[in-house]
Amino acid sequence: MTERIPCKTEGCRATILPTTAAKTGGYCMPCHQEQERQKRQAYIEQHRKTVNLYEDLTDPVEILKVMHTPRQHDPLIQYVPYPLSKEQMYVSLTAEEAGRMLKYALELLAAGDKNEADPILLSLVCYRNDYIVEVLPELMEHGMYHSGILFKDAPPDIRDRLLQQVEWDDDNRNHLLLILSWIGDPVVISRIREWRLHPPEWAEQLFVGPEIYALEGGWELTSDGERRDLTHGLSYAIRATGEQRDAATAASNARFLKISASNCPWCDGKLTILLDADTSHPSLAYLGLPLERLQVETCERCGCFSTIYVELDRQGVPVWSRFNQKPAYLPSFDSEDSSGMTGPRLTLSSEPHSPYYAAIWTLSQQDSQIGGHPSWVQDADYPFCPCCAKRMRFIGQVDWADFDNLGEGIFYMFVCAEDKVTATLYQQS
Ligand SMILES: [Zn+2]
Ligand SMILES: [Zn+2]
Ligand SMILES: [Zn+2]
Repeated sequence: MTERIPCKTEGCRATILPTTAAKTGGYCMPCHQEQERQKRQAYIEQHRKTVNLYEDLTDPVEILKVMHTPRQHDPLIQYVPYPLSKEQMYVSLTAEEAGRMLKYALELLAAGDKNEADPILLSLVCYRNDYIVEVLPELMEHGMYHSGILFKDAPPDIRDRLLQQVEWDDDNRNHLLLILSWIGDPVVISRIREWRLHPPEWAEQLFVGPEIYALEGGWELTSDGERRDLTHGLSYAIRATGEQRDAATAASNARFLKISASNCPWCDGKLTILLDADTSHPSLAYLGLPLERLQVETCERCGCFSTIYVELDRQGVPVWSRFNQKPAYLPSFDSEDSSGMTGPRLTLSSEPHSPYYAAIWTLSQQDSQIGGHPSWVQDADYPFCPCCAKRMRFIGQVDWADFDNLGEGIFYMFVCAEDKVTATLYQQS
């Protein structure tokens, strides 16, 4: 039997074979590997270069091109981040600069770089609500149907081509129906109405009826066959106060993520007031609520497992709804855990942003907002009002990831103004 010898590291109790010792200079494998790792780390720190790709750039279009260029990770290079985010850059572009960005996306498409062109087009449409219909024939040429929102302003000739294509194109039908829901004009509405009366043969292969696709575009087909919007075009960002400090912001008088005085009947923790805002604010006034303030309350623990309805009494005070149904499964919550979200103070931006600003969850923006289109993490889902059985309107959302590095998931808020009922749902990846 070969005699084992102790590892040379002080305090290490491992013993090794002489052959190992010859290879490692007398150290056990874990110690040897740790030494190698430290050597590598020291080398990286000594030789790492700081690179500022934006140093000589002043043209916002050139800056955005650099931001969009994929970069391979190199441990020896530390990139200096640009002080503004991509979405802040897009919002501040002039019309001429946005036009150059669109031209750049078209060049990328012509060169076959679909994956690079797609986020640029989405950014122009979502962050700026730019009109990009000149690109649509190119997208169809390249079979790029997966970002349906890009087609929302499609002119009649393109819409008609898509309406024909959806009948025969089995491979793209799912995406084509989503595109049509984003278009949602009277011709599309009447076609969906027809499909409901006389379901086409291909509808059997879908998981849901063609009219359910309308929800992705933010509307529904009513029982009378009319379009009923479930979102509102005026949208204001919810941000940490540090980012918005003008006087107009303070005047919005909206508050977020407050701990309620009431307890959750299911877990006994304190409820959370997600939103407490003046009903006269432009993003809420259209609801015509006969109340001064609108409060949306939920349980941030149980709310992850179930739709939670809260009824507003005559004074607008939220009351846990008798229609809530306790889900079959709820984890047991630690009472320590019920202190509520303690993040930064939040406020409403003074100027509205694009109603599509947060519509694509996979882009990099913060999603929290009142109004606009929801950032669905999963499928679009507008709860039914427990009183009138109509779908409830989306009024805003809070994305936990916006205000908490460890947070994830979005709480979506809904209201039925007629019955003065609010609802929340939660989705996460
Ligand atoms: Zn050792
Ligand atoms: Zn609860
Ligand atoms: Zn209702």
